[in-house]
Order: sequence, then C-alpha cells, then structure tokens
Amino acid sequence: MKKREFGRTGIEVPVIGQGTWNLERDFRAEAVTALRRGLDAGMAHVDTAEMYGGGRVEELVGEALAGRRAEVFLVSKVLPSNASFEGTLAACERSLKRLRTDHLDLYLLHWPSDEHPLEQTLAALEKLVEQGKTRLWGLSNFDAGELEAALRLAGPGRIACNQVLYNLDHRYAEAALLPMCQTNGIALVGYSPFGSGDFPSPRGAGGRVLAGIAGRLGASPRAVALAFLTRLPGTFTIPKAASVGHALENARAGSLQLSAEDVGALEAAFAGGTDASLPVI
Ligand code: NAP
Repeated sequence: MKKREFGRTGIEVPVIGQGTWNLERDFRAEAVTALRRGLDAGMAHVDTAEMYGGGRVEELVGEALAGRRAEVFLVSKVLPSNASFEGTLAACERSLKRLRTDHLDLYLLHWPSDEHPLEQTLAALEKLVEQGKTRLWGLSNFDAGELEAALRLAGPGRIACNQVLYNLDHRYAEAALLPMCQTNGIALVGYSPFGSGDFPSPRGAGGRVLAGIAGRLGASPRAVALAFLTRLPGTFTIPKAASVGHALENARAGSLQLSAEDVGALEAAFAGGTDASLPVI
C-alpha cells in the first residue's frame, strides 16, 4: 500500500483509506469485517463523522477497530451546528466514547458553519490538540476562498487537511484548491471517489478508457480510478465499501502504477470541470 506524508505533519498515511458514510444501512457483521479486512490490506485511514447514522456509524467503527486502534489513522468530524467552542469539545467527547478510544488522529469541521464563528471552532480544535484528544485537526468542504480565510485565522502549519468532493466527474478541486493545499502543506482528501455509487458506466466513452487500462493492468476500473485520484502530490482518497470483496478490490489501487500515458488518457476522458467553485454536499 502506497503511503505519503499527510500534508506537512510528518505522518505517513496510506493514499487509499476507508469511508463509512451510510454504513449503518449495510449488513453490520459484513461491514465490520470489511473494515477489518481493509485494515489488513493497508487501508488504515478510516474516515467517519458524528453525523453518520446519527452516531451509529461511529459505534460500528469502534467495534471494527477494537484491539486495532494503534494501526489506524482515525478521523471524525464535528457538525457545523455543534461547532461552537464548547460544542466542539463536547462533540469530540461523544465521538471518542462511541469510537471506544481516548484520541482521534484527525478531527475535522464537516463543512463551514453559518451558526458559529470559525475562530471559535478553530480555538476548540487547538484546545483538543493541547488536551491530546486529537493529534491533528482539519477542515472539510472549504472552497479556495474559505480555505484562505481559515489560513489567515489559523496561521501556517496548523490545518492538516481539507476533505472535499473529488472523483472522475468532479475534478474542480484540481484548479485552485489543490495548488493552495500543496503550497500550504495541507493534505487534500478526496471523498465520494465513486460518486457515491454513481460510477462511470462501462458503456460510456470514459468508462471504456477506464476498462481498457484496467484490463491491461489486471485490476478493476474502480481500482484504476482510485489510483488516478491519488496521482497528484498531497492527495488521498477514502472509498466506502460494505463488503470484503469491494474493500479488497479498492485496496489493490494502493499498489497500481499508472503510466503517464494512462494518466493522460484518463485526464482527457474525464475532463470534468475546471471551475474553481467547489460543490458541497
Ligand atoms: P463512494 O466511496 O464514492 O461510493 C460508495 C459506493 O461504491 C457504495 O455503493 C459501495 O458499495 C460502492 N463500492 C465501493 N467499492 C466498490 C467496488 N470495489 N466495486 C463496486 N462497488 C463499490 O461514496 P461515499 O460514501 O459518498 O464517499 C466515500 C467516503 O467519503 C464516505 O463514506 C465518507 O467517509 C466520506 N464523505 C465525506 C463527505 C464530507 O462532506 N466530508 C461527503 C461524502 C462522503 P458497497 O457499500 O455495497 O460496498
């Protein structure tokens, strides 16, 4: 499994991780096993949030990670509606309890809050680092302008990552956001790498390019997509899988080598948007 430094934190993180949104809807025992087998295959970056299943997904993740906490780069997120100073501290405590751990590796603001000033949230995130409740903090769904404002408030070297939508059909992040992240030592974690299940059809032009490369490399089109989405410096991806088969197929991407020709063909086939505005879920 390929790893790279997570922003400028000095911490090496696998480029392919594991998402958990909606995992409470899947068959629980299989979902827990899929996460564990995903860890065995090196996908140690596990992404969750207090929002997912109203806390039930954090509980499921806590069950999956029992006895394996030390192997994992564990990420959770505070809801913007909870992101006051005190609210952020309290939300983190609740997440730690559900996750059965005493610390996170990374704690994110899920998206910019229109209820609580960012200064307050950032002060709470810094407090949580001071208290050892999280090693790092970061942001999610911040567009380039919002990230610039956050950088002004936080100062250099504090924001570990920005987690944003990034898949074959949504490559907006490459225009302004990724260069800003790279310059400032901020990891760019791409979410919904398979479009939340809306993956390019093998019958479409892009799907045929994917299938051709996948066939040559003896991998699946999804694995090729994940390798493509982590080709640029500073990028990571977190596909969600509820079955062992899917998890292992995704982990395969961590050892795939795309040629410059493959990358060029995929860039052309999925020209996507170059608009700097970032769609937010
Ligand atoms: P996704 O990873 O783009 O796609 C998940 C879908 O792809 C599921 O239906 C899954 O099926 C299927 N899948 C996974 N591996 C597969 C494989 N090898 N072959 C065939 N199908 C496969 O969806 P996502 O959940 O939207 O995004 C990933 C993660 O990003 C989330 O889980 C969450 O952790 C994070 N996220 C963050 C935000 C944010 O605002 N920060 C927003 C969205 C997502 P099965 O489940 O049946 O395996």
